[in-house]
Amino acid sequence: MIIAIDGPAASGKGTLARRIAAHYGLGYLDTGTLYRAVARDLLAAGHDIRDEAAAIAAARNLDPASLDDPFLRDRGVGEAASVVAGFAGVREALLALQRRFAKRPGGAVLDGRDIATVVCPEADIKLFVTASLEERARRRYHELRAKGFEVTREQVRDEIAERDRRDRERDTAPLKMAEDARLLDTTDLDIDTAFKAAIALIDEMIGR
Ligand code: C5P
Repeated sequence: MIIAIDGPAASGKGTLARRIAAHYGLGYLDTGTLYRAVARDLLAAGHDIRDEAAAIAAARNLDPASLDDPFLRDRGVGEAASVVAGFAGVREALLALQRRFAKRPGGAVLDGRDIATVVCPEADIKLFVTASLEERARRRYHELRAKGFEVTREQVRDEIAERDRRDRERDTAPLKMAEDARLLDTTDLDIDTAFKAAIALIDEMIGR
């Protein structure tokens, strides 16, 4: 079974995807981490974040063993990731790895922006997880403050809005809900309620 979960930044899709994978005993890949790692490697090599050729090279040379890096969750890395994610060559270079993971024996959950539309259009289950901009900004703000980052709610909201705009408006694999996906709006749901709602939707789709 392949479960594809897409949605905008800070919608709660990552936490949900991880719990859904554990619930059904499936592998889990957070595909945002791949783009974050490409941005990290590009900047670490001293290149400009808009250097397309260097970004494509970084994506081709990405070491899957380097994805377990807490720095990838830092403020600013998501923003940089969304710049390299706009390059078609970067997306192309990361496609095989994602598809290989999706086809692993036993099944997988992948979360990102284009899983249901591009990476795994054949997925058995497609969920689009979203929440209002205000609520997503509130969650990310508390997350960043807990990690010790000095940010304001307004800064966080503006950063998320800008990242969403870039992800929705890019030419290659833009963020959008697949026609055959089910929508889960978590604006008024805490994580446990959202998880239960997701399981109910998935069980309904697989006929349990
Ligand atoms: O989900 P996360 O915030 O970690 O993603 C970081 C960035 O990586 C996103 O803003 C998006 O630009 C890019 N991304 C993507 N396609 C995916 C996953 C992430 O373009 N499947």
